[in-house]
Amino acid sequence: MTRGSIVDVVANARIAGEGRDLLAHPDVARDGVWDLWLADGRIVDMAPAGAVRHRGQVLDAEGAWVVPGLWDHHVHFLQWSLASTRPSVEHATSPAEAAAFAARAAPHADGRRVLSRWREALWHDEPTRAVLDDATGDVPTYLLSVDVHAVWMNSAAFRREGIAPTDSGIVHEQVAFDVIDTLDDVDGAVADAAHHAAAERAAARGVVGIWDLEFGENHEPWRRRADGGWNGLRVFSNVYPDDLEGVIARGLETGDPLSDSPYVRLGMLKVVGDGALASRTAATSQDYDGHAHHRGALNTQPHEMVELVARAAGAGIATTIHAIGDVANAAALDAFARCAVPGRIEHAQLVGATDIARFARLDVDASVQPQHLVDDRDLTDHFWATQRAMPYPLRALRDSGANLLFGSDGPVSPLDPWIQMAAAVARTDDDRAAWRPEQALDARTALAASTEGGSAAPATIAPGQGADLAIVAQDPLACEAASLRAMPVHATMIAGRLTHVE
Ligand SMILES: [Zn+2]
Repeated sequence: MTRGSIVDVVANARIAGEGRDLLAHPDVARDGVWDLWLADGRIVDMAPAGAVRHRGQVLDAEGAWVVPGLWDHHVHFLQWSLASTRPSVEHATSPAEAAAFAARAAPHADGRRVLSRWREALWHDEPTRAVLDDATGDVPTYLLSVDVHAVWMNSAAFRREGIAPTDSGIVHEQVAFDVIDTLDDVDGAVADAAHHAAAERAAARGVVGIWDLEFGENHEPWRRRADGGWNGLRVFSNVYPDDLEGVIARGLETGDPLSDSPYVRLGMLKVVGDGALASRTAATSQDYDGHAHHRGALNTQPHEMVELVARAAGAGIATTIHAIGDVANAAALDAFARCAVPGRIEHAQLVGATDIARFARLDVDASVQPQHLVDDRDLTDHFWATQRAMPYPLRALRDSGANLLFGSDGPVSPLDPWIQMAAAVARTDDDRAAWRPEQALDARTALAASTEGGSAAPATIAPGQGADLAIVAQDPLACEAASLRAMPVHATMIAGRLTHVE
């Protein structure tokens, strides 16, 4: 069978994830081999392998494991799609080394050099515009920080963007978002080709759906792709405050398709509550270590959060609030409480002990990116060692009943749910011991958090459920973290249609 084929029977599959417990068939052990019959995009029947005669197109799983189709609940999909054209400077250990590396990068067709994964927080020397100018000259050059909340630019880049230059060459938060917006403003055909390629790569990792939190006006491009037959992933396209009134005027509510295609739907209003750890702009209740009186800042004030949540909820649009520091998390939870509506928080990286239980109580989902805790463990120990709130409290959130949703925040980490699951379970990805292992999750929770509904309401494999499925080489509930991270994916299907097959 090939990509695009409709599967009628998945034969000889073992069951992983939700649904396994339902299958206590008397003739078959719990890890026995099953056949799944699909029709009209759903699972219509299940039986021990070979018990009922096959019909139609049969995908033989050959004893591999079937899991619910996976979701990435937070990705900047255009930036992720373009990331392969932006060399990483993550390895650089000083401003001069990063600048020299940037100078060797080939400019894009528009004349600009763009580099990614710039990480300066632990450098000894401060970055300056002069260092970058010396190495890169007149070619407009941009280094995007790993958390995408800051950009280091040379003088030519400031001229090109029409922004007053800073001595450091660094711009933060909204100014940085606006610069990134102009870098992402590539030709529609280039963007569409990159999106299709990225969707194929995601499907090859078992992904069937994404929440796209790309900056800027993203609905028209998605509507164009939907009208053009896009069906590689299910997509929720989020909206930022600048475009909220336009979406309300069109009468769109959360979950509504943007066009006739069922694949692309309106997501939530995304509000940026504060900054980020690597840029030291996340709003915290205690000083950053080594930075007296520095506690980051809210990008959106508490009363503005309440106004935005209320305005969106009144129009049938749910809200998700980016909150990394504990002050931002408290403000976001307060906003949902004041408005008495469910919601979602992106990141929840530093949460006060008394706020943990409010996620479940207020019906606020925690959209988290476990690979960030592995990537940021040194930064967290460096800058947040004396914070009183809990960093990356995944287990505490789960134990309090919060619904966990996993995502990559791609391009910040790769769009690959298996990396997120492994990070959540192992809390390390090198030869060091697990970081704060008491906050590690079990594999079942990690897999559930990577499905559409999240850890508290995961997708299930059962008759009547949708046939968004992936077939993987090993039992994800029983294998080592290293195997989880590298999990081979044999096939992926959306509503029974193959989007990936080996
Ligand atoms: Zn993000």
